Formats: sequence, structure tokens, C-alpha cells
Amino acid sequence: MDIIILFGPPGVGKGTQATLLADKLGFKHLSTGELLREAIKHKTKLGKEVEEIISQGHLVPDALIAEIVEQFLAKHSTCEGFILDGFPRTVRQAEMLNKFLAIKQLGKVHIINLFAPEDELIARIHLRAKKEKRADDTGEAIHQRMRVYLQETLPVLDYYTGKCGLDSIDGVGDIKKIHKLILAALA
Ligand code: AMP
Repeated sequence: MDIIILFGPPGVGKGTQATLLADKLGFKHLSTGELLREAIKHKTKLGKEVEEIISQGHLVPDALIAEIVEQFLAKHSTCEGFILDGFPRTVRQAEMLNKFLAIKQLGKVHIINLFAPEDELIARIHLRAKKEKRADDTGEAIHQRMRVYLQETLPVLDYYTGKCGLDSIDGVGDIKKIHKLILAALA
């Protein structure tokens, strides 16, 4: 079983590419953001705990993320592989993932680092806000998420450098073309 981490800033297209990749490879798509939004929608205990944190663009505590990731991996333990979208987002989470993989004897990790200029990302997020009405796709929350990405998430790339496959791919352009570039990097 392989693990593909789709890495990159908010708005770069991780969700879109993760969905395409999961379909193509028959892997399970884990989006921590999507699981958290579902919890908020269904007003679960977790949902109530994280709603304000997310709407302000902050990160949900690592311990809560560990719980939902562990549950997800256990629930889908027989699948071919996983596409991770939005996780790990801190070095601490990357260390947690390592432990899960070692315990469950899951296979190798490959990182696809999608990148795009910040003005393009902000424009895309504004467009998505109109369609999906995400609470964190507006105002100050967008800038807070960008800051969090630079300060807390980007160091995850350093953490993985030299430890696993890592390809950087331009996230600007035709969705299908980017998908093909990702497949080629993974081949
Ligand atoms: P996303 O859909 O990946 O952009 O995530 C939306 C929001 O959910 C983020 O801005 C965080 O508040 C929260 N979130 C999602 N994944 C994580 C994670 N791995 N660690 C901490 N917070 C997360």
C-alpha cells in the first residue's frame, strides 16, 4: 500500500488533484479539511470543538487530527493506498504519520508539492468562496491560512527531504495537464 501526500498552500488545487488521482489509482482520498467540515455540518462534538478555529483560519490541534486520521486509516485498512490531502500540516503531524505507517506496516510515501503564486491562490479562493461558501474562504481567514502555511506547514517539506520521493509541480494551468504531470512524477 502506498501513501501519496498532496502538499501545497490553500487554493493550489490539492482537493481537485487528489480526487482525480484517487479515481485513477483506486486509492482512498483522505481530506482532513473535508472530514472536519462534515463534523461541523453534523454538529458533532468534534465539529463544535473545531468550528471557530477553522473559521478563523487557524490549525486544529494535532491531537484531534491524529484521532481522525487514525480512525480513517483503520476504517479503510484494506484499500490499495491513500491520497493524503491537507495532512500532514505540521512537522508533529508528519512524525505522527510515520508512527502510524510503521505500526500498520504501510508502504512508501511519495510527496507531490503543488505550487502557485500567492495572487493566483487568493484569486482562486475568492472564486471558490462564491461557489462553496466555505467559512474560511473569506477576509482575514484567507491571510491567516497563508501565514499558517508558511510558518507551520512549509517546514514539513524540509522534514521529508531525503526521506521519500518528492516532486514539485506547477499548480497553475489546465487541471488535466497537471494531473498527467503528477502521474508522470509518480511513475
Ligand atoms: P483544507 O480543506 O485542507 O483547506 O482545511 C481547512 C481547514 O481545516 C484548515 O484551514 C484548518 O483549520 C483545518 N485543517 C484541515 N486539515 C488540518 C490538519 N491536518 N491539521 C490542522 N488543521 C487542519
